[in-house]
Amino acid sequence: MTLPMTKEPRAIRLTTPPQQAEALVLSCMDHRLIRAVADYLGARGLAGRYDQISLAGGAIGIMSDQAAPWAETFWAHVKLARELHGISKVIVIDHQDCGACKAFVGADCAADREHELVVHMEKMEALADEIRTREPGLDVELLFMDLDGSVAPLGT
Ligand SMILES: [Zn+2]
Repeated sequence: MTLPMTKEPRAIRLTTPPQQAEALVLSCMDHRLIRAVADYLGARGLAGRYDQISLAGGAIGIMSDQAAPWAETFWAHVKLARELHGISKVIVIDHQDCGACKAFVGADCAADREHELVVHMEKMEALADEIRTREPGLDVELLFMDLDGSVAPLGT
């Protein structure tokens, strides 16, 4: 007995669809903001046009000595996003009340707004400098998201 014929396999596409992405987005893993990050990027017209890596703390996690493997993972992804998808920018989105900030920087990280913004700005600007050094030619955008999903640029 022969097996019943299944549907013909789909013809292999001969032309490759465009593989370009505009940016690599780095955001925190925090479940509270996953949707807000996607909505924000979508509202900017970037839906389907960015790569994304989520690591606890975003810039805080990558710049922490306590999470060195995360930094290694991040840099590998930046390189790959460039090679595979030709990204021209890294968008870093840190956020309010971040648990990784409390764990890596200090329990009082989010105790008051000004302190919280200063901590994130320092780490994010340090990361931006490192991106520009390691991956010349990439633009860097630093953003800070509040728990209500609102976003503001951070840094200089
Ligand atoms: Zn977080």
